[in-house]
Amino acid sequence: MIDASGERAADVRVRAATIAEVGAGLEPAPGALVLDAEGCFVAPGLVDLQVHFREPGREDSETIETGARAAALGGFTAVVCMPNTEPPLDDAAVVQSVLERARAAGLCDVRPSACITKGRQGQELAPMGELYDLGVRLFTDDGDCVADARVMRRAFEYASALPGAVIGQHAEDPALVHGGHMHEGAWSARLGIPGRPAEAESSIVARDLQLARRTGGRYHVLHMSCATSAELVRAAKAEGVRVTAECTPQHLVLTDEACAGFDPSFKMNPPLREQADVDALRAAVADGTIDAIATDHAPHAPETKDVPFEEAPPGMLGVETALAVVLTTLVEPGVLTLHQALGALSWQPARVVGLDTDGHGGPVAAGAGANLCVIDPGAQWVVEGDALASRSRNTPWEGWKLTGKVRHTILGGVPTVRDGEATR
Ligand SMILES: [Zn+2]
Repeated sequence: MIDASGERAADVRVRAATIAEVGAGLEPAPGALVLDAEGCFVAPGLVDLQVHFREPGREDSETIETGARAAALGGFTAVVCMPNTEPPLDDAAVVQSVLERARAAGLCDVRPSACITKGRQGQELAPMGELYDLGVRLFTDDGDCVADARVMRRAFEYASALPGAVIGQHAEDPALVHGGHMHEGAWSARLGIPGRPAEAESSIVARDLQLARRTGGRYHVLHMSCATSAELVRAAKAEGVRVTAECTPQHLVLTDEACAGFDPSFKMNPPLREQADVDALRAAVADGTIDAIATDHAPHAPETKDVPFEEAPPGMLGVETALAVVLTTLVEPGVLTLHQALGALSWQPARVVGLDTDGHGGPVAAGAGANLCVIDPGAQWVVEGDALASRSRNTPWEGWKLTGKVRHTILGGVPTVRDGEATR
């Protein structure tokens, strides 16, 4: 088993929704279900701070049930879903319906985030207190940036009165990215595609960090993508500003060169950037500046995504491939230790939104919640979009050979994935 405190060889006994015992050579109780974890790591279930499950509104791309199934197959026991649905998650009734659908699916602990502003219009604050009372901890207008500094300041002030609430920003200055479709740099110039400069992100991060410092509010940078943002967050953390950050596997592995074939699978916001940014993000995960690796799982039905690059919506699938991509491209070559990688995929994100107090993110110890994933580190597989459980297939990893796969996922003591297959 492996958790925040380290790793050791052990069996794990689960009773009801709780870990009952961890130790070497445990004998199964009569009639107990035994899951084979020989040669595997038994880790706390993974926690994803950013997924788009498209329900309500775009059930042709994904539903809470299909998204939750895909997440379970990827080893996730908890995910935070983004509020840019149709209608957006800006009132109690819509948030309540997402919670009910997630509970009915029973595949993953799906926690809705909610909008900072009504209708994600960036002007009037959503009823944050009411949404907080339903369990919402992350507030964001994700998909769009809250560009108005005064609105952002008021959101910080309001959230700082709600214990554990955090303001998440999709940091891209709309004026600077207007009309852009990929990172602004040598590749966008060569391809003739209008760009979205890195400064669109770092300028918003710099401003928001000053507002967080001023108000004492908590700030979370969603899908951070560039070197300057990482430097800003590192310095702010050192100063004691209440800030956390996440980045995606794709921003840790791919560069803007991936857009050279005009394949919309590589289009996302913020865009894939340059090698220097990739290197800076990797260093920031390793030193804890970036707390979490989040997928920004963004399904798009094939008929909407299979169009010319500049017409395609931004975003790519992530939950089924994240762990294996991280193991193959970052852990195996020694960029991150397994412990750092699982920290960024499980116990660190759990702490950002308070899921650690609800039994997610470990520890793998008696008395803790039985939310686990069992990882076979040697299993090899090839990514095929058509074979993924998601309702869409817009993966940037098509054809990649990956090493490491989830064998079992256990949610509240019940297997949601057994021997690599979803149980429901
Ligand atoms: Zn976003």
